[in-house]
Amino acid sequence: QMKEDDFSYHLHPTSSIPDMEAWGGPRIISEGEGVRVKSVEGKTYIDCGAGLWLNNVGTGRKEIVEAASKQMEKLHYFQSFNGYTHPLAIEVAKKFAKMVPVENARIFFTSGGSESNDSAYKLARLYFNLTGRPEKNQIICRTKAYHGVAYGATSATSLPGFWDGFRPLVPGFHHTDHPHCYFCAWGKEEGSCDYECAKAVEEKILEIGPEKVAGFSAEPVIGTGGAIVPPNGYYPRVREICNKYDVLLIADEVICGFGRTGKNFGIENWGVKPDLMMLAKGITSGYIPMGAVALTGKIYEPIKKHGIFMHGYTYTGHPVACAAALANLEIVEKENLVENARIKGEILRQKVRALDLPCIGEVRGIGMINGVQLVKNRETREKFAPSVGFAKRVSFLGWENGLILRPLIDDALQLSPSLIISETEIDELVEKLETSIKQAWEEYLAND
Ligand code: PLP
Repeated sequence: QMKEDDFSYHLHPTSSIPDMEAWGGPRIISEGEGVRVKSVEGKTYIDCGAGLWLNNVGTGRKEIVEAASKQMEKLHYFQSFNGYTHPLAIEVAKKFAKMVPVENARIFFTSGGSESNDSAYKLARLYFNLTGRPEKNQIICRTKAYHGVAYGATSATSLPGFWDGFRPLVPGFHHTDHPHCYFCAWGKEEGSCDYECAKAVEEKILEIGPEKVAGFSAEPVIGTGGAIVPPNGYYPRVREICNKYDVLLIADEVICGFGRTGKNFGIENWGVKPDLMMLAKGITSGYIPMGAVALTGKIYEPIKKHGIFMHGYTYTGHPVACAAALANLEIVEKENLVENARIKGEILRQKVRALDLPCIGEVRGIGMINGVQLVKNRETREKFAPSVGFAKRVSFLGWENGLILRPLIDDALQLSPSLIISETEIDELVEKLETSIKQAWEEYLAND
């Protein structure tokens, strides 16, 4: 009945309707604990994606439930508009401002990653408007970027399907090639290249005209586009290029932020300070929606002078979300989960690398953002034809074998479980992953 009702009444985000029909209905998950979730049919799964890269502390954390429910009783909502706020929003803003690698940071709250992206792009444009350079309003993003689905965020995104049927997009967004050492667009190898991927950012700035470019926006580690870690020199070079042309460096830390990469923030892996930073997901581990933007004092100054920021959301600085954020981050600190992301991520990658499966081309990642790159030919790095849908098939078999396993772009599999995962759970995950990939590969060979 639930499945029928879902078909009758529910519009799912980015879900293939033919796939759901083929499965006999959507997959309905009703409860969970730790790194596992359970379907309404009673079967348990290890969630290899921690929801959508967000459940850092695992499911069922009473501390967060209690903090949120206490705040709900006391004051479930009050506005942040019109000069009002409440104690927890102030506490969270102070905490974040002291944590982020953003100079003299100030915090603006949103309800999620897309809102954080739109807010950051508006802040970048506003900064140049208020400092007398309104023509400096173009934003450079990258191919394979995912920044969300609000209109600004959609325009910044560059993944198949997200623009189809939604044009016209917001004007002023451009895309340049992303760094990807395994499938390098310049045919180079890390170590002997000249960071052509960073040079591409400079070339794009020059093509548009530096006097027109407000910002360069990038995920420190590309998530949905394939769990792609840049080479070490990339961000330091990009920072230099942005400084040279007075372009704001905008880091979309929606996935990376709050510990997932083994540092508090992804960009800290390369010692770089951005001008604007988008945050969401890991703030509350998904217990309640919340996002934020961190901006430098330099960007805030002209706004202060101007006297008002004409932008905000009803749920900006929501008291219950703030309570959940504080309780969640306390768990992250107490349980050393940032360090755990680094250590367990490395263990996970090593165990997957040890699998003897000819279709695994690369196991890449940093902390608990990992991708298993599946290829038709490991020697030549030849990809599967898109019509094969190899990673999608592995993901389907993963479900049969007790894994929630998401295919990313270009036949990569997402391995980004909760940061609390134990080594025994990693072993179980890897064993089920091996079975699923092996089954898909044998099927592929039989049909080829
Ligand atoms: N930015 C990045 C890097 C993301 O991965 C996502 C979501 O996955 C978003 C932005 C959009 O966040 P939301 O879905 O909360 O709007």
